[in-house]
Amino acid sequence: MLGSPASVLELDSRTAWSGAGREGADHGTPAARRAGATLPGLTAWLAERGEPAYRSDQVARWIFQKRARSFAVMTDLPAGLRLALESSWAVYQTRVIRRQTATDGTDKLLLECRDGRRIETVLMREEDRRTVCVSSQVGCGMGCVFCASGLKGVERNLTVGEITEELLHARDLLPEHERLTNIVVMGMGESLANLENLIAALDRICSPSGLGLSQRAVTISTVGLPEKIKRLAALDRRYHLAVSLHAPTEELRDQLVPINHKVGLRAVMEAADHYFAVTGRQVTFEYVLLGGINDRDRDARDLVALLAGRKAHVNLIPYNPVAGLPYERPAPRDLDRFVRRCRQGGLSVSVRKTKGKRIDAACGQLRRRIAEATIPASAGNAGAAIELATPGGSIARLGG
Ligand code: SF4
Repeated sequence: MLGSPASVLELDSRTAWSGAGREGADHGTPAARRAGATLPGLTAWLAERGEPAYRSDQVARWIFQKRARSFAVMTDLPAGLRLALESSWAVYQTRVIRRQTATDGTDKLLLECRDGRRIETVLMREEDRRTVCVSSQVGCGMGCVFCASGLKGVERNLTVGEITEELLHARDLLPEHERLTNIVVMGMGESLANLENLIAALDRICSPSGLGLSQRAVTISTVGLPEKIKRLAALDRRYHLAVSLHAPTEELRDQLVPINHKVGLRAVMEAADHYFAVTGRQVTFEYVLLGGINDRDRDARDLVALLAGRKAHVNLIPYNPVAGLPYERPAPRDLDRFVRRCRQGGLSVSVRKTKGKRIDAACGQLRRRIAEATIPASAGNAGAAIELATPGGSIARLGG
């Protein structure tokens, strides 16, 4: 796809951030609407050709609300303009190169970007919820020892357009009468390391002219970058924050989450407290349970002590092994005991259900495996039954 026309969905993140400070927090406000499903590059191009400004809105409506994948179907545009658009612009800059569907309806997409880099996006179906898990970077630089995504480090941030397209590709898997209901930013990458592009894409998707999701239906997960958490709090959005804790002490977290050496658990907790104080939104703490490593009685006790006095919820994620990594899922009795100890200590705890069994649902797993195999030129591998592994990050946090 290198050398192909620029996508109308690409957006300079600075465009979306302008005017979208504290006053522009809610997507119902004029400022947030301006930061919505606009196509600024296309708008400028249209203006140069003497086309009215509303043409850009027409194109956006076709893409976001009518699922258009080409300009040819945009029948309320003049035929000549459609031809000119086809030769100068692309609707999408990513393409689906692999789709895996689990028996529970979970879909995992492998997308290829214009530069050939690949990312993963997952759609989960549960009762009336339709949740997409998006990636925010190619690879990840945080290096959590149990995660496939971080094995080769980070290659680059995803652009606003690429993140937007992840959501649209997932949306397009749904029948016309269904809508996305939730977004979780728990895929490949450290979401707050790409904060500006991520917020620009989420603002656009949540705007009434985008897909119209409530900001409250979006969860941004982070390994814990204190300054970025504070910056997110200052933006005054309604997005929910989830902090990936994985260990209740500095010492253990240093071992499991190497970035902790730099930031420190204390600073992460202070930032989480700050987020709650500023936004009033309860923070979720995610904790991947690794058999024999952080699921012991003393770990439960330390976790209770760490969160004592905080209004918080803990999401426990039993680990699913990743090929080549030496970590194991906890035994059922150890999981039960850990949950019991936490609850006895007064913590609000849930255990994440496994979704997407028998696909490469672990974050980074599909990308990693496909990198070593021949890739078919088209999507449509529905029904592929390949082993699921769920790491601590990303999809692990969803499916684990
Ligand atoms: S668990 Fe998340 S933050 Fe850690 S390496 Fe994996 S993707 Fe990055």
